Amino acid sequence: MTPEPLVDSFGRVHRDLRISITDRCNFRCTYCMPAEGMTWLPRSEVLAFEELTRIARICVDRFGIDSIRLTGGEPTVRAHLPVLVAQLAALGVDLALTTNGATLRASVADLAAAGLRRVNVSLDSLRPERFAALTRRDALPAVLDGIDAAVEAGLGPVKVNVVLVRGVNDDEVVDLARFGRDKGVTIRFIEFMPLDADRRWDRSAVVPAEEIVAAIDAAFPVEPVTRASEPAERWRYVDGAGEVGVIPSVTRPFCASCDRIRLTAEGRLRSCLFATDETDLRSLLRSGASDDAVAAAVARTVAGKWAGHGIGSATFVAPPRSMSQIGG
Ligand code: SAM
Ligand code: SF4
Repeated sequence: MTPEPLVDSFGRVHRDLRISITDRCNFRCTYCMPAEGMTWLPRSEVLAFEELTRIARICVDRFGIDSIRLTGGEPTVRAHLPVLVAQLAALGVDLALTTNGATLRASVADLAAAGLRRVNVSLDSLRPERFAALTRRDALPAVLDGIDAAVEAGLGPVKVNVVLVRGVNDDEVVDLARFGRDKGVTIRFIEFMPLDADRRWDRSAVVPAEEIVAAIDAAFPVEPVTRASEPAERWRYVDGAGEVGVIPSVTRPFCASCDRIRLTAEGRLRSCLFATDETDLRSLLRSGASDDAVAAAVARTVAGKWAGHGIGSATFVAPPRSMSQIGG
């Protein structure tokens, strides 16, 4: 079967599937989850590996999806993760994992052997006390070791995601950039988005990409790299010490070239991180729907995708779910 491109009404072709495989997490980052009170999905409501793989296979075979990112919650807390990685790797896609990195040292060899190609690790501070306050877990040494383990396992280029929040960690831009240069990993600074479970987001807490790049450039001069369809704006260090990226989701949204769809842990398909409606693929699967019916539901969801999220506009409504429940 020749794949038909997954196109929305604005002509955007979708090739990237983000799958949240769990809503659970061993961290409680302040910009993502509340300290307490998260209720996890019951196991029976979370898609089984076979269900996840079936949806992924339909997306690959029918629509030419060629990139799959596993995320969560924290994907590494899901038992037997290498089994899922092997099932998805067999689809021949570019397979990556977004993780907080705390347990990577123990699992990365099995994940690489199962077919994982790359990892993105989140790291918001290099200062142990601040890291512990931000993530509500005293795990900085484990995360740093996890980054080393990913590099050693050849899962490169390892990308390290940093969410900057004004007055919290915005004084670490240059330190984190230096860390990336020294380690040979690509730091990507992400603008804080209104997807925190506590609903404390405020535009004044966003550190604009422009300011981030200016701070880096003053310490380590950079020049732009031509931007592909990816959301990160890429910059190259003039002295050849690698790259750094910024993801300006709030100040310069990349909606016009967005090629992503997202599947939540309980099997809801979302055409946008900020979508306020979802398609329940789990019910379809569990009611015995054919591949044709599932593919039609995927195509319908994407066809109805909006032009953009409109953060900052008068009509913007934050989705009722937090980042950890959608899968970042
Ligand atoms: N637990 C994994 C991790 O932390 O990498 C994967 C899931 S996490 C929800 C995915 C990404 O979303 C992380 O890079 C995290 O920093 C980012 N994130 C979470 N809440 C965010 C927010 N309110 N604004 C911007 N990025 C956020
Ligand atoms: Fe967990 Fe990732 Fe959210 Fe932090 S950002 S609480 S590690 S899901």
